[in-house]
Amino acid sequence: MLKGGICLQHVNLHNHTVYSDGVNTMVENIGSAIANNMVALGFSDHSYTPCDESYCMKLKDYDPYLQEISQLKEKYTGRISIYAGLELDHDSDPDTNAFDYCIASVHYIIRDGKTYAIDHSLAQQQLCCQEVFGGDKLAMAKCYYDQLTEHVTRCKPTFVGHFDVITKFSYIPEEDPRYQEIAANALEEVVKVCPYIEVNTGAIARKCRTTPYPARFLLERMRALGAKPVLGSDSHQKENLIFGFDEAVQLLKEIGFKEIWQFNGKDFDPIEI
Ligand SMILES: [Zn+2]
Ligand SMILES: [Zn+2]
Repeated sequence: MLKGGICLQHVNLHNHTVYSDGVNTMVENIGSAIANNMVALGFSDHSYTPCDESYCMKLKDYDPYLQEISQLKEKYTGRISIYAGLELDHDSDPDTNAFDYCIASVHYIIRDGKTYAIDHSLAQQQLCCQEVFGGDKLAMAKCYYDQLTEHVTRCKPTFVGHFDVITKFSYIPEEDPRYQEIAANALEEVVKVCPYIEVNTGAIARKCRTTPYPARFLLERMRALGAKPVLGSDSHQKENLIFGFDEAVQLLKEIGFKEIWQFNGKDFDPIEI
């Protein structure tokens, strides 16, 4: 991002490594972050979810995960800031005190003992919608946003991850004003608890979307509510650490945002865009 001839240096707190479902090690990711002139990198592997152990961290991995990050923080002091984060699912209840930050995300709808991974595939969303909501897509969307609102209210995260990930497979009718009202009402509730909302470019890298989460109408609502955008790439491989960030900044500027918010280890600093 060029502004007055100066390159905007990026921070990304939403990264997955081999501790959960990422491809690369922490060290490999840090090498790529330094090559990309980033000022900070946070690791946010998936918290342990009893409903689905296939892609999350195992309980026994929390300690080694934190220990490795602690060692890397020291090793790379003066070159890049490293933070210990967690992408905290709502079906998860770890002690988060040892982490520098938490991202609140919802990946599942769980009903009658059955788990539907709503960000995993179109087939999972279709099955969930048929089996749980009798084919009512708006009811499924409402359930997702209710869970997200409850999750954010309960865990009080550092920021909120991929707010409208329920739209990932274009199954939910995003143009339907009734859907937009459900999502916008949820956003209003969420922002009251946590004003920091991720602008997530992950689905662009995975070719599910051409624009970041949240959708433009929600970004516009964020602007009106005074919510604070935090860039996140939801990277699962080292090549994608800042994927789509420059385009996301451009979009935010178009909508009227004057700044993005970058984590400093304790809080967020506004960065002019
Ligand atoms: Zn996620
Ligand atoms: Zn993620």
